[in-house]
Amino acid sequence: MTPVETLIECRWAVPVRPAGALENHAIAVDQGRIVALLPSDEARRRYQPAQRVELANHIVTPGLVNAHTHAAMALLRGVGDDLPLMRWLNERIWPLEKALVSEEFVYDGTRLAAVEMLRSGVTCCSDMYFFPDACARALRDAGMRGVVGIIAIEFPSAYAADAEDYLRKGLATRDALRDDPLITFTLAPHAPYTVSDATLARIAMLAEELDLPVHMHVHETQHEIDGSLAQHGVRPLARLDRLGLATERLIAVHAVHLNRAEVDLLAERGASVAHCPASNLKLASGIAQVAALLDAGINVAIGTDGAASNNRLDLLGETRLAALLAKGAAQDAAVMPAAQALECATLGGARALGIEPAVGSIEVGKQADLAAFDLSAPEESPCFEPVSHLVYSSDRASVSDVWVAGRHVVRARQVVTHAGDALSGPVLAPIAAWQNRARQHLK
Ligand SMILES: [Zn+2]
Repeated sequence: MTPVETLIECRWAVPVRPAGALENHAIAVDQGRIVALLPSDEARRRYQPAQRVELANHIVTPGLVNAHTHAAMALLRGVGDDLPLMRWLNERIWPLEKALVSEEFVYDGTRLAAVEMLRSGVTCCSDMYFFPDACARALRDAGMRGVVGIIAIEFPSAYAADAEDYLRKGLATRDALRDDPLITFTLAPHAPYTVSDATLARIAMLAEELDLPVHMHVHETQHEIDGSLAQHGVRPLARLDRLGLATERLIAVHAVHLNRAEVDLLAERGASVAHCPASNLKLASGIAQVAALLDAGINVAIGTDGAASNNRLDLLGETRLAALLAKGAAQDAAVMPAAQALECATLGGARALGIEPAVGSIEVGKQADLAAFDLSAPEESPCFEPVSHLVYSSDRASVSDVWVAGRHVVRARQVVTHAGDALSGPVLAPIAAWQNRARQHLK
């Protein structure tokens, strides 16, 4: 018998790679990594676990990867509902951020978002926001994996004075957290309309030099494209290409408005798209042509965007919406089948973020980032085919257990600290004060 830290026995394991579900399988975890995925009866003969977790009526998947969010904006959930993007930004979000954003705001907001995401089966998020150092600290304190954006934008904030200052501070944060096992980084220029040519060219150089992905809002609205044509004489993606950013490192967030040549360009360069369907619908930006992206072979990841434009950080719900919208928009039910949608929500995100060797599937040697969905509730019954059940029937309320790097961070739907205490109390404590401050500025 081989000793291991944890043996998770489940009704179905859905490894994502290969596609499909394995019935009555067990996952052996040791020192944070997956050491075996095998039939449960065989696992009991081979492994002596310090902890055995029996999930008799559950599906276990790789932890979901939220490929685009602004976690701290959980504190602005529901602010500026029913406004289009530019009014939402100009009239609500930017004035409120100017008044409220601080290191404490980002820490408290990110921790709130982390608890919501973990309870939704999300084990890793790719974030873009001010004070990335506070974001990284909050994710780590919640026990969640994070790919933190080194944000760059031309306008000043409480965090930084100008684009140069944003980059300098973000890179210093990256240096300080170089050895953190749960945190990696992207370069995160906000959007083509908020970042100058000089800054974008510098970021293209840094991406090469430091081997970092570039996480950026791209072609979100028609307004963005019209503005670029007026100001630069070209569409945003052509400008990014000219500045050396249309590469395999690019994570084009949204990519709602792409013409055929732009889809081909992204495919040819090996760029990824972070598809955020709920945010695109809520801000009335449009519907990304996911069928065309997938058909061209583009790596599609799924993101929630921030809670101010969604208003949920529910990646499973987002995955269902992505699959349904892709079919409806293409008028083809075969587009984005459930297994492909789940792959986008796990491996697709990991691939875009440069962490595919570590996470995104249940494979031996990878980090044990796992989510368990309990199918005991009447609305989860019956289950004929676990993968499509997950995507079309299941709900984040069914998430019972979550592991990040082998640590059991959600138990019986509770996010717990290293000491085993429930995290929701301390996370909720400062929220009312932030809400009051936001209300004062909205008057
Ligand atoms: Zn966004």
